[in-house]
Amino acid sequence: MSVRKERFQVRFWGVRGSYPTSSLKTLKFGGHTSCVEVEAGTRRLIFDAGTGIIPLGKKLLKSRRSDLNLYIFLSHTHHDHLIGLYFFEPLQKSNTRLFVFGPNSSRNSLKSTLRTAMDSQFFPIGLQELDARKEIFSLMGGEVVRFKAGSLRPKVDKKSSLEALVKDELTILSYKSHAHPKNGVMLYKVIYRDRSVVYATDIEEKKGGYPEVIEFVRGADLLIHDAQYLNSEYFSRTDPRKGWGHSTVMSAVAVAKKAAVKRLVLFHHEPIHNDSTVRKMEKQAQRLFPNAVAASEGMEVDLMQP
Ligand SMILES: [Zn+2]
Ligand SMILES: [Zn+2]
Repeated sequence: MSVRKERFQVRFWGVRGSYPTSSLKTLKFGGHTSCVEVEAGTRRLIFDAGTGIIPLGKKLLKSRRSDLNLYIFLSHTHHDHLIGLYFFEPLQKSNTRLFVFGPNSSRNSLKSTLRTAMDSQFFPIGLQELDARKEIFSLMGGEVVRFKAGSLRPKVDKKSSLEALVKDELTILSYKSHAHPKNGVMLYKVIYRDRSVVYATDIEEKKGGYPEVIEFVRGADLLIHDAQYLNSEYFSRTDPRKGWGHSTVMSAVAVAKKAAVKRLVLFHHEPIHNDSTVRKMEKQAQRLFPNAVAASEGMEVDLMQP
């Protein structure tokens, strides 16, 4: 088959947490909020719709040769992970087919949350007015999203019905963590051709990591993990960030080591951190886990490389 079928590549479009930044001092790592593109075989998955999804949308329209089939997985619906959706141009095209997955809140389905977010009080174009064909799937956590060869629409199964993973079939596992205020966050593990990547943003690890999270992450080729704070900020005596729903570099490293992942990407950078602070955090991580890197806009990781 073609080379494309073998592709398993991760590309970072937005790496900043909480709100976008724009400054000469953050150019190296970038200012867009969360958005990570994963190409697996012929499928294109997008994790979160922060402002990073806006340039991704423009690129997709520019390079499209036929209909666009896109799969967006939302970690949760806090603004920094959703705000780019308003300006994601493929949504305005009738030959885009979009599947959106994400957690429901305690009160609402994902569909009703997205409808509210696009209510006319907040944005002039409603979700229903956008021309793309959309299907929205609310997840509870523990689901298996399977992509069968030749079928556009993935199948969502409860994990309990999961037999052995089908070899070479693209599969995404979901895990709901409550370690993010107030509705928690969904983590995802993408498995393809015996390789895997875990997307774990907006999670506040406890000391040493949560055993269930470590199990979910175990053995991943790549772990993308929240690492918003320095220890000095998290444990500050005057203005602590403990309880804000994000991890320190040290706790991201602890999870990476315990779960025996191959590579760690520090993600969801604190917006007030300039390039030299993020670089310092990267070095801190590398001292304990040499295969760690701070995410930057435009960075690519090829998971098919040995
Ligand atoms: Zn966030
Ligand atoms: Zn959040």
